[in-house]
Amino acid sequence: MPLKLLSQKLATDSLRDKNILVTGASSGIGKAVAIAAARQGANVILCGRDNPALEQCYDQIIAETDTRPFILPLDLSRLNNKDISLVTQQIETEFDCLHGLVHCAGLLGLRTSLEQFPLSQWQLLLQVNATAPFILTQALLPALRLSGSASILFTSSSVGRIGKAYWGGYAVSKFAVEGLMQVWAEELQGTDAIRVNSINPGAVATKMRAQAYPAEDPSLLRQPQDIAPAYLYLLSDASLDIKGQALTI
Ligand code: NDP
Repeated sequence: MPLKLLSQKLATDSLRDKNILVTGASSGIGKAVAIAAARQGANVILCGRDNPALEQCYDQIIAETDTRPFILPLDLSRLNNKDISLVTQQIETEFDCLHGLVHCAGLLGLRTSLEQFPLSQWQLLLQVNATAPFILTQALLPALRLSGSASILFTSSSVGRIGKAYWGGYAVSKFAVEGLMQVWAEELQGTDAIRVNSINPGAVATKMRAQAYPAEDPSLLRQPQDIAPAYLYLLSDASLDIKGQALTI
């Protein structure tokens, strides 16, 4: 039976003192997850490329919670070795370890046939949606291991599970995300207290959704804050036995 993520009960302060890095924390699902995690007591590392938006998220967390948010500016389209050593250094200096890594950053890109798909767009989508999560996860594994019990969440999509015409590089990049989740989950099975899962959030009213379906009324969709509890559950100790699963909200 599929796990009903949104019916799982979360205890108050279920993420107290956990250090959780969220990519795409500047908007949409990533921002909602970051704020909701801080409300549950987590120290959230807000990762993104839009500094004013990250600062706004930071200010909201400071105003509402007693946690310690941290801004980590990073453009995933041109992640290089220098960025990566800075990220690992900052995590090491500011936080002892990481308990959660949530990959929410993503790009939709062009909606056109593969026959017409420009190579430059393809490379950008694969870089932001799949290669960057791979690089970040690889670099942060030591910090995740140090926590003794960590959760890695990849954000996927229905078109990353069943291919769909005209979803181009986005769909293929999400298949890669599912592959990353499966391979990592198996490699870490039994050797580490790190669990790895992917989430398909379903239709959620965000900038990306509006780009994909411009004629849709966003007020009829789930809002990012409605689905954040599913992420929190998978980050919390209530989900220790959920591993290697492609979940759907
Ligand atoms: P948003 O467009 O609101 O958020 C996308 C996030 O990715 C933004 O924070 C954006 O930053 C960040 N991002 C994009 N490019 C880069 C980059 N080069 N470097 C760093 N950050 C970058 O969309 P959603 O919240 O909807 O998307 C979140 C995730 O959910 C994505 O992975 C998406 O594929 C997935 N998803 C969403 C669905 C939906 O219905 N909304 C359905 C299925 C999956 P910036 O603010 O700087 O642009």
